[in-house]
Amino acid sequence: MANARGTEVVVVGAGIAGVSTAYHLAARGVATTLLEKRHPAYGPTWRSSAICHAFYMAPALSRLAARGTAILRDLPATIGAPVVFRPVGMMWLVGAEAAPAWRAAVERIKGEGAAIEAIAPAEVARMAPGIVTDDAALGVWEPTCGYADPYGAANALAEGARRAGARIRLDTAMMRLVVERGRVAGIETTGGERIGADAVVLATGVWTRPIAARLGVELPITVERHGMAVLDAPARARAILPFAWCDDILCNYARPEGEGTILVGSWAGGGTGVRHGDVERPDQADDPDAYDELVDQAGSTEILTHIVRRVPAFESLGVRRGYAGLYDMSPDDLPIIDRLPGVDGAHMICGSSGHGFKLGPAVGEEVARLVAAGQAPALDDFALARFGDTA
Ligand SMILES: Cc1cc2nc3c(=O)[nH]c(=O)nc-3n(C[C@H](O)[C@H](O)[C@H](O)COP(=O)(O)OP(=O)(O)OC[C@H]3O[C@@H](n4cnc5c(N)ncnc54)[C@H](O)[C@@H]3O)c2cc1C
Repeated sequence: MANARGTEVVVVGAGIAGVSTAYHLAARGVATTLLEKRHPAYGPTWRSSAICHAFYMAPALSRLAARGTAILRDLPATIGAPVVFRPVGMMWLVGAEAAPAWRAAVERIKGEGAAIEAIAPAEVARMAPGIVTDDAALGVWEPTCGYADPYGAANALAEGARRAGARIRLDTAMMRLVVERGRVAGIETTGGERIGADAVVLATGVWTRPIAARLGVELPITVERHGMAVLDAPARARAILPFAWCDDILCNYARPEGEGTILVGSWAGGGTGVRHGDVERPDQADDPDAYDELVDQAGSTEILTHIVRRVPAFESLGVRRGYAGLYDMSPDDLPIIDRLPGVDGAHMICGSSGHGFKLGPAVGEEVARLVAAGQAPALDDFALARFGDTA
């Protein structure tokens, strides 16, 4: 199993977290196989709005977010990848009640080196005259943030992994984890092939819960369906909405997609690590391989209900067919990144709770550190044990 290069690791899942883990393992010289049942970004990564920002209430989350965003921004320089990151800036709007906590978090995050500042709502309106800010107490501006192309980012990191020596196995699904005497020995594919390994990383997102359950571990994860509305704004998307946008008052978000389209989603505050209790949770998806992936006109209208008060120009834009993706939600909206209890050598990345895209590149870097060097303190806050006994 182990060869001249030392430990053999199989990373299962080529979402943003898995491709980054494989890249960072291979870059450390670890013999790595990346296994994906379809293709990179096949899962929720593909549907991601891929907004990248450093703001989070939870310090461990904002550090990973800032690092993840920096990795994406630097991909052309680090691995010669095409540009996948669009630094259009990230703007938040915050109400009076939440403003003191946000100001304190902004100061903390700025102190850690991120470009972020608290600004007056009037300044938000000056930067985007079509946005109504009369109910706001605070704007938060992250000038170097923005959004990425999720497909491009996953493909770039997978290619980086391949160039660093990883084996990439697409269209190959893991059927089961092979466990011998309490230790992982590899994986078996649905085709019956066995791939030996000293360590396995399950970067399987919304698919992780049943995999863990088969090994006697009950993960406290639910899967939610989140719809996106898509607006036509030919040649004026950025004139209407110049930056990526998140509204902590009306609980929705939007971003330009290139110059002619605007994506709009609803949101329950979980994106900051603090969920808004008064916002209705979206429908649960029982089967990640069979859920309603389309958002029809009625669904789009519902998503747009509140945001048109904030950006009245949205009302005059044409509505395209929308789409829906899945969030793997943990009870506290923080990811679960840990060893799998009871199976030495098995690790999991799941529960990304709707913010896993920007975190993914940094999560992969830290998980590679955990697997290769045995510890990664940046992940301490994401241990499964915070939810009590799960086995
Ligand atoms: C509509 C929407 C908008 C979002 N917007 C944002 C945003 O703006 N910013 C942000 O940071 N996050 C956002 N997110 C969240 C983010 O997209 C996810 O948290 C992130 O993509 C999860 O990545 P992942 O690598 O953990 O998992 P996934 O993308 O779920 O990848 C898991 C992979 O594992 C593979 N797999 C599963 N089982 C097996 C098996 N048995 N064998 C082989 N392969 C397997 C799957 O095919 C899949 O490719 C959004 C999500 C959605 C749905």
